[in-house]
Amino acid sequence: MVETARSIGANTFAFFTRNPRGSRAKPEDPADSALAVAALREYGFGCLVAHGSYTMNLCTKEAEARAFAASVLEEDLRRMRLLPGNFYNFHPGSHVGQGLEAGVEQIAAALKKALSHGYPVTVLLEAMAGKGSEIGGRFEELKMIMDAVGSDALGVCLDTCHIYDAGYDIVNDLDGVLREFDAVVGLKRLKALHLNDSKNPFASHKDRHECIGKGSLGLATFQAIMNHSALKDKPMILETPNELPGYAAEISLLRSLEF
Ligand code: FE
Ligand code: FE
Ligand code: ZN
Repeated sequence: MVETARSIGANTFAFFTRNPRGSRAKPEDPADSALAVAALREYGFGCLVAHGSYTMNLCTKEAEARAFAASVLEEDLRRMRLLPGNFYNFHPGSHVGQGLEAGVEQIAAALKKALSHGYPVTVLLEAMAGKGSEIGGRFEELKMIMDAVGSDALGVCLDTCHIYDAGYDIVNDLDGVLREFDAVVGLKRLKALHLNDSKNPFASHKDRHECIGKGSLGLATFQAIMNHSALKDKPMILETPNELPGYAAEISLLRSLEF
């Protein structure tokens, strides 16, 4: 992973802790992880942003499935001890009709248990597009989870496609959105960004990523992000519809936008 990221000009990357559409995980390989840790240091990489499985829903309705999701989270954080000091980002979950309050409570309970072991990882809630019963489409919802967990260990990962889709107008008022985030959650909790353009118009709650500059956000928005004092030093992860050469091109495009 480290060598591949370096080969395309990256100095951070995301990786899935297990099958993103299932729950199977490769066995741990401490020797390989130690090589990664050494390479990250040698190449001067910033923090990595691991991504939890998309199917892990901590506030799913059925108790047994919910307990399984909570055990997956716990195991993921345990696995992160092999790459200490990095971030683990996940989708808070969909309450599937149980209601926001019940969902937040269930997510918080799973997080409390998983965080109780003190593994060397900072857990990030991903801001979502607010599709269906998805929790995390409003900054207030992320704050509710943080308050319910009552831990300073939690941070936030802002996904540019998601928040624009959720109704935060970063195209016309990036500063205003960040002021709102600061007022609701606190900018010190912002730890990482997912850089994605969007296939859909503002506030459409659809969550369909587009390549940088090719969607409704546009290049000027990414130029503003790349140069914003509150954002420019955060780990930035591309989740655009690309293969490696496309990511290499987007990394150099984004770097070319820096003043
Ligand atoms: Fe995500
Ligand atoms: Fe994302
Ligand atoms: Zn998305």
